[in-house]
Amino acid sequence: MKARVEKLRARMDQMGFDAVLVSQPQNRRYLSGFTGSAGHLLITGRETVIATDFRYYEQSAQQAPDFRLYQATGPMEGWLPGLLAGLGGQRLGFEAADLTFHVYRTLRKAVEGLPADERPRLVATTNLVESLRAVKEPEEIAALQAAVDLGDAAFQHVAERIEPGWTEKQVAWEIEKYMREHGGDGTSFDTIVAGGAWGAMPHAYPRERPLQEGETVVIDMGVRLDGYCSDLTRTIFLGRPDDSFRKIYDVVLGAQLTAEELVRPGMTGEEAHMLAHRVIEAAGFGENFGHGLGHGVGLEIHESPRLARTSKDVLAEGMVVTIEPGVYITGWGGVRIEDMVVIEDGKARVMSRAPKIVGA
Ligand code: ZN
Ligand code: ZN
Repeated sequence: MKARVEKLRARMDQMGFDAVLVSQPQNRRYLSGFTGSAGHLLITGRETVIATDFRYYEQSAQQAPDFRLYQATGPMEGWLPGLLAGLGGQRLGFEAADLTFHVYRTLRKAVEGLPADERPRLVATTNLVESLRAVKEPEEIAALQAAVDLGDAAFQHVAERIEPGWTEKQVAWEIEKYMREHGGDGTSFDTIVAGGAWGAMPHAYPRERPLQEGETVVIDMGVRLDGYCSDLTRTIFLGRPDDSFRKIYDVVLGAQLTAEELVRPGMTGEEAHMLAHRVIEAAGFGENFGHGLGHGVGLEIHESPRLARTSKDVLAEGMVVTIEPGVYITGWGGVRIEDMVVIEDGKARVMSRAPKIVGA
């Protein structure tokens, strides 16, 4: 954690910040180790402070021993001025993408309530800690691999059993049950199970409807393990795959394998996206791949970088991202195939091992 704080301080220096107030939960955890659901970090050039309330005094002392505890009990209006005292004239960053309007107003009021020479200057930041989190440390890659392995096992467990008559909700529950029974902390997002035409919606929710013989099933699922997320999509076919499924599945798989093979550090998110997009477009389905190729995964299910058209994010060694092209056809359904990969030794190493050809 100390090394992470030092990295943040270097970034703060570059950007002209004297102090940063960290409120985003995963950023808080990343920098301090504290996993509780409430609290703020104040990081200055010299000090690291954790402001949290009575429920978390003991936990924060255990998990964030390098941080000085500031007792932040009661409404924010009451304790915030005391936390900010001593920052007079300094540039204090706050996390604009996380603060609610209400908390921002409370922050402004707290600053304005201080004597003039004790007021810090509030400056909005975005992506400050997130940009550090985008590049994973070896222990983080190991934690992500453990989450991926558990997700793969949960998928395989269900893929071997699924049959016509199971409802979409039942499939989701069997996956989630397996994850919890094997040490997972929960899902990293709401499990998607979409049979037949329902699969035309990339983020379909599972229904009570029984799955039918002769239809596709899109399953997009993830587990949270020790705080780290996994993300996996497989599309399977119940029964003997028909020609239209085979054709579209081959296009999507071809696009995915192409991107996994050719993605390189130094590429932009847009360049990575286009590796897959060109394959799908050449097959005549360009209009049917309407979302981005992928996203970073870590303590959050969606984090930096973004792999999509218009993404200027640059891929770098140590980033963990998804590669998840899809084709969606209203009235027919969808096919999406998603792996997690780590950018390592100048290329992508695939972390997901769940089988890709599943006809049940
Ligand atoms: Zn997914
Ligand atoms: Zn994803």
